[in-house]
Formats: sequence, C-alpha cells, structure tokens
Amino acid sequence: MSTDIDTLLRSPKAYQWARKAIDAMETHKAWPTALNFELWLHYVAAKDSDVAAEINTVIESGEHFTDQVGANIAAHHLPAAKLSGEILNAGKNLTKELNSVSRAIESARETSEIYGQQLATASESLDAQGNAAVRTMVENLSNATRKVHAENQALESQLADTTDELGRLREHLEQVRRDAMTDALTMLANRKAFDESLEQACADSDRTGEVVTLAVVDIDHFKTFNDTWGHQTGDQVLRYVASVIGRIGGEGARLSARYGGEEFAVIFPGERREVAMAALEAVREEISSRTLKRRSTNEDLGAITISTGIAERRRGDPPAAVIEAADGALYAAKRSGRNRTMLAETGSESRAA
Ligand code: GH3
Ligand code: MG
Ligand code: MG
Repeated sequence: MSTDIDTLLRSPKAYQWARKAIDAMETHKAWPTALNFELWLHYVAAKDSDVAAEINTVIESGEHFTDQVGANIAAHHLPAAKLSGEILNAGKNLTKELNSVSRAIESARETSEIYGQQLATASESLDAQGNAAVRTMVENLSNATRKVHAENQALESQLADTTDELGRLREHLEQVRRDAMTDALTMLANRKAFDESLEQACADSDRTGEVVTLAVVDIDHFKTFNDTWGHQTGDQVLRYVASVIGRIGGEGARLSARYGGEEFAVIFPGERREVAMAALEAVREEISSRTLKRRSTNEDLGAITISTGIAERRRGDPPAAVIEAADGALYAAKRSGRNRTMLAETGSESRAA
C-alpha cells in the first residue's frame, strides 16, 4: 500500500515526520529545498515507495544528493498530476495510440490461439480417422499459427517497453521544458517565457479586443548595492524583489518574469494600466519600507527601491512597441528621482502616479 504524503502531513504526527525528513536531508547533505523536502518525506515516511528506493540507491552509491539528482527523481516518480503542458498531452495521446495498437495485437493473438486450438482438435480427430495427407496439412497450418502467435507475443512485449520508455521520455521532456522557461536564480519565468507570453497576450488581445498592460521594473542603484555588499548579497536581494513581484504576478492570467539582470516585468492580460499601477505601487511601497538584513551576519543593509514604467498596449501594436513604451516610462521614472511608478501615455509623454 502506498503512503499518501498529503494526508500524512495533516495527521497528528505530521511535525515528527517533517522533522525526520529534515534530519535525513541534513545527514545526507541535501539542501532543504521545497522539492527535496517532498522527496525526503517519501524517504522517511513511505519507505517502500519508488522515491525512497531511488534515494537509497543514491545514498548507497555514495553520490552527492545534488539538486539535479533530486530533480531527476522528482521528474520520474512524483505524481503525474504535477506534470502538465502540451508535451504531456502529446505524450498521453501517443500512449493512448500505443495502447490501442497493443489491444489490437492482443486480440489478434487471442484469435490465433483459438484458431490454433481448433486446428489441434481437427488434427486429433483426423488422426483417429487415419487420414494422413489431410493431417499433415492441418499440422502445417497448426505450426504456422503457433509461429504467428509467438510473433504477436514478442511484438506485444516490445510495444509495452516502448510505451514505458515513452512515459519516461515525456516526464523528462516536461522537466526540461519547465527548466527552459524558468530563471534559475529567482524561479520566476525567464526572458524566453516572457517573450512567448507577451506575444500570446497580444495575439489574444487582437482577437478578443481586451487590453494588455505591461509593467517593467528596475532596481535603483543596484550597481552601487553590489559594489558595497557583494554579488552574493545582491543575488539575495534579486530573489527577495522577485518574490514580492511574483506575488502580484501570480494572480489571474498575469505573468511575472525576470526580464534581465536586475529588471523584471509583469504582463497584465485584460487589465487596464490603472490596475497595474495600483499593484506596482503596492510592490514599490512594500520593498522600500523593508529594512534588509544580510542573512549570514544580520548586518543592516538599509532599504532598496525600485522604479517602474507601465504601458497599456495600443491594439494592433507589436509586442516590441509596448515594451518600448513601458521602458520609456521607466526611464522617465529614473530621471525624475527613482523609487516611483510611472505610466506611459499613448505617445511619448509620461506622468507620475
Ligand atoms: P539605476 O538606478 O539607474 O537602474 O542604476 P543601476 O546601478 O541599478 O543600473 P546599472 O544598469 O548601471 O547596473 C545594474 C547592475 O545590476 C549591474 C550589475 O552589477 C547588477 N546585476 C545584474 N545582474 C545581476 C545578478 O544576476 N546578480 C547580481 N548580484 N547583480 C546583478
Ligand atoms: Mg537595469
Ligand atoms: Mg537598475
């Protein structure tokens, strides 16, 4: 019987299991990431699961439990419900096709088996009647049928292997697809995913007549911050800013992305610029009012600020035009003192919030 991890995490002993998982991660030098936590819960709480078996294999081999190792195990063994996307569907359809071919072969095999049995019976009764020539003919037919039967069986088992292999491939592809669309530092959508989403949003907008609004965010004086506190601390700030932007970007059809170095973007399909303005103003206030601390030393790093430019796309404009308009508003925000959010007008002017 398999252990249901979700149920286990809401049981009276949930915290004990969680602590055990964390202890196991520490013992085996696996980072306590969300994904690893899920995997190592299987290891401590579902010892007979595939995940636990895989982790055991890694431990026994002496291999380090790196993020890549964890990702591979997750891609293979965590519930298929978590995998999504077009590739998955394409793979599912292919699997369905293969299954139906498999059923056809199985039914052909059954038919040939019945035919073979009938021939065997015929051969026996001919034997009793002593009709040698016809009996030889029936035996030949019988042999041919057995051969077809064996070939069908081999084909069926090959097909089963192919179907399994296809499932593995599909999961691997899904993982690769997700990685290819995600920025590794911040886990937001990356530039490629952003470009695709904006293009899609523009195409949808031309079809439906709904607006698309774009916000472009840039951290203020980030070079100075890096120069003062170091690149590592700079990276932590990028993660922090991404987490705040990711929160508003997670609502509805929105998408938040890391656009480049210390720049982020949020696409608001079907939402007007005033709505985007309110959301980004809230982000700006949250970020600027927080005093950052260096994790390792608890040292006070002060606060950082962001500047944002927002533009609503004119219907029919290419994606590049709305990016340019939002960039223009961002530039205006920088010029007029930073730590502000500005709207692009339809033309070249900009105005403050
Ligand atoms: P402004 O207010 O005009 O935007 O000034 P700025 O210093 O933020 O702008 P500038 O474009 O001159 O510098 C951007 C800096 O962002 C330079 C670089 O050190 C930093 N940066 C870009 N990508 C990363 C990254 O991945 N990690 C870290 N730590 N810093 C980065
Ligand atoms: Mg910049
Ligand atoms: Mg900057």
